[in-house]
Amino acid sequence: MRDIYVRHRPKCRYASSQYKHPKGLPARIVFGCGCPIYARVQIRHPDPQVAPFEFNSSLAKLGVKEKLAAEELIDQWAVQFLSGQSTSFEPKNFKTVEQAILDYLDEKRGTLDQKKESSKLTIRKIAGILKPLTAFLSDRGVVYMKDVKTEHLTAFQETWKGRLRKNRKTGELVLQPKSQLGKQKTQEFLKMFFRRSRELRWIAENPAEVLLSIKTPRNEVKKKTPEEKLRLMEAIPEVFPKIADTVKAFVLIQRYSGLRLVDVFTLRTDALADDGMMIASQEKNEEPVFVPLPPFVIELVKNLQSKSKDYFFWTGTSTIKTAVNDWSEKMMRLYEAAGIEGKRTHEWRDTLAIDVLERGGSLEDVQLLLGHKSRKTTEKYYVALTKKRMEKAIDVRRRTWDAVVVGRKSKRRSA
Ligand SMILES: [Zn+2]
Repeated sequence: MRDIYVRHRPKCRYASSQYKHPKGLPARIVFGCGCPIYARVQIRHPDPQVAPFEFNSSLAKLGVKEKLAAEELIDQWAVQFLSGQSTSFEPKNFKTVEQAILDYLDEKRGTLDQKKESSKLTIRKIAGILKPLTAFLSDRGVVYMKDVKTEHLTAFQETWKGRLRKNRKTGELVLQPKSQLGKQKTQEFLKMFFRRSRELRWIAENPAEVLLSIKTPRNEVKKKTPEEKLRLMEAIPEVFPKIADTVKAFVLIQRYSGLRLVDVFTLRTDALADDGMMIASQEKNEEPVFVPLPPFVIELVKNLQSKSKDYFFWTGTSTIKTAVNDWSEKMMRLYEAAGIEGKRTHEWRDTLAIDVLERGGSLEDVQLLLGHKSRKTTEKYYVALTKKRMEKAIDVRRRTWDAVVVGRKSKRRSA
C-alpha cells in the first residue's frame, strides 16, 4: 500500500471548499502548492516471518517537498527493506507525537488503581487535554516529538476552551471561555507529559519547560453567608418539588462535611454511623476519614430512600461522569434560583475551612477535615488564617492599650 497525499494548510487555495480541480481530482492529491506532503506506506516482506515495513507520517519533515521526490524516497525504502538492508532512515527511531501520547497514557494508566472510578476520570481528563495536540501539530507539519517547539505549545494553549453549557432559555449549547485557573491546570498536565517525555529520552529538550506560567487572579476564598445558606435551603422545594428530601440531604452533607461533589454522590449506605460518616477513600485522597455530621442531618439521611442498595445518591450503574454532570447541573439550577454567585458547591469546602480557622482551628485541622493530600492545597486558606490572626492581634493591642490609658488615669486619680 502506498498513499501519498497533501495536507493543505487552511490558507491554501486548494483547502477552500470552493476549489474544483479541472479533472475532478480530490484536493488531497493535488500537489505543487508547498503544503506538507504525507505518506502512508506498507510494504510486505516475501518472508511472512518479517514484519512489514510501515510508515504513516509527514514526508515534509524528511525534507521532501515534491511528489516525485516522495515517490523516489519510498521506492528507495522498498528496495532497502526487501533486500534486507537496513534503511538509512528509520522512521521508528523517532517517536511520533501521537505514539508518545498513547504510550504516556498507557504508562499513567498502569500507575493508577484500576478499581477506582476516579482513575478512569483522570485518564480521560489527561487524554482529553493531550490528544488534540496530535492534530494541532500535524496541521503545522509537526509529527515527531523532536520537532515540537515551545511556540507550538504556546499556540496550542490558545485553543483551550471551556465547557459546553446549555443556555436554559434558548436550549442552545454555548462554549464557555476557559478560566485562568482551568488554563493553569491544563498547562500543568501538558508540562507533565513533556517532562516525562524528556525523562524517557523521547526528546532531547523539553519544549514545555519554558512555557510562560499562566496568571490567575488572586484566589479570594469566600465563605457562604447565613443568608445565602437560608436562601439555598428555601429554594430546594421550589426547584425540586419531587426530590426535595434527597437534594436537601445532599446539600446538607456537603455543607457539614465539606466533601467534594463526587464524594457525596458516591457515598455508600454502609458509611453512615450514628454521629457521622466513615469515608473509606475520597477522590483525591486514599486515607479513610471520619466526617462528623449533626444529628438532624444523620436523621434526614437515615430516612432517605437511597438510590440503590449500596449508594444513597447513585444507582451505581451510570458512569461517574454522567452522575457528576447531573448533580452539578442540579446544583447550578439551585444556586441560580437562590441567587447565589460564585464558586458554587466548592464554596462549602471554603466555608468549612474558614469556619474552623475562625474558631481557632489550625491549618492542620483543615487539612485533615478536607482530606487534602498535600499541605500546599490547604495553604490557600492561609490568608483567611492571617486575617483572623491580625484581627486578634489588633484586638489584643487595643485592650492592652486601653489598660495602659486606664491605668494612668487611675494612677493620677489615686495620686
Ligand atoms: Zn496546499
